[in-house]
Amino acid sequence: MNHHTDIIASVIREAEARGIRLEGVAFPDEIVLEPGAIARLPAYLSGKGHKRALLVGDPVTIAAAGGEGLAASLRGLGIETETTLVTPNAAGDVVADEASVVQALLDMQKHRADVAVAVGAGTLHDITRYAAYTSGLPFVSAPTAPSVDGFTSKGAPLLIRGDKITVPAIGPSAIFADTDILAQAPAAMVAAGFGDMLGKYTSLFDWKVGHAIGGEDYDPFVAELTGSALDACVSRVEAIGGRTPEGIETLTRALIVSGLAMLIFGQSHSASGAEHHLSHYWEMELLRTGRRQVLHGAKVGAACAIIADHYRRRLGQAAEAGASGSDAALAARLGDRLPEIAAWLGELPGAARIRELLRIAGGPAEPEALGIDAELVLRSLREADEIRPGRKTLLRLINGRP
Ligand SMILES: [Zn+2]
Repeated sequence: MNHHTDIIASVIREAEARGIRLEGVAFPDEIVLEPGAIARLPAYLSGKGHKRALLVGDPVTIAAAGGEGLAASLRGLGIETETTLVTPNAAGDVVADEASVVQALLDMQKHRADVAVAVGAGTLHDITRYAAYTSGLPFVSAPTAPSVDGFTSKGAPLLIRGDKITVPAIGPSAIFADTDILAQAPAAMVAAGFGDMLGKYTSLFDWKVGHAIGGEDYDPFVAELTGSALDACVSRVEAIGGRTPEGIETLTRALIVSGLAMLIFGQSHSASGAEHHLSHYWEMELLRTGRRQVLHGAKVGAACAIIADHYRRRLGQAAEAGASGSDAALAARLGDRLPEIAAWLGELPGAARIRELLRIAGGPAEPEALGIDAELVLRSLREADEIRPGRKTLLRLINGRP
């Protein structure tokens, strides 16, 4: 079959097999996941009638995507092409903050671009998607690292005056995921992508709890899609850690499928629970104190192990006969669903196994290795649910907030 759209087609087929129709979902036109995929990008833009493209990246990502060669083939099809190299912040990181967004916006205006191309990993996608949305332009995704599941996202997590907020933007009209390029990504970024997928253990669990206790909407198909993508990554963790072609393909596909699952549900419950709230909390703290940023997925993976451990301990204490104080309050909150929720948690791997998987994937497993100290971890367990008060995660229930 046509390689171009096989991810979307297989998702639609799986849905149809369950009698679910997905016509209302705004999928990208094309998702190309294959070696050499980037070579299809110029013809796609030309076919869409684009005449002026702005590539948004940084020196490393633009070089990874073939830089001048890509620009030359775009120009060869009559597409005027310019490149924005997003300037790093004072700590030396490219971040999706006001300055980066405005830099991309100004270049879109100066170049009179009619399409933007995000060339890079998650942060560059967030900058591009928001700047393109604000300019009324479509954007196309050319990921250079399989490091996050946010490529297909319609929301852009931005840092505005140091606070992490997610604002509405647009999803890519097409994705060109070139496995030759993705396999060259630094090992730490591949491990981070795996960490972002491992986080689905706790996000899927939190979603079930939010549905059972907090009355949140739940979509079993979306949960299953995400869970299968997670399982595929875990079963090929050695190949992912070894960055073999199969490992890279598996991980990238899983990240894209997780993104499509969010697109189908229209919200991020399947992919983002308390482990993400911890990660966002840490990120804001690192920014506030002027420290170097840590890859999103690396934080999520480490946070997933911490959350799994925290949940196990707190649910265990709540279930004890003589539970008192906040344990008793949690037990009261969960009521007769407590045994069922404890059973769901029992299906998840424990913290030790989660850390082992992170190490096999080539990443750090402990927050200390990311510059996150024990005090910050404890504080985030107490406060991180306030980042997303609308999400009824078990962490929020543990912290006794409505
Ligand atoms: Zn994530």
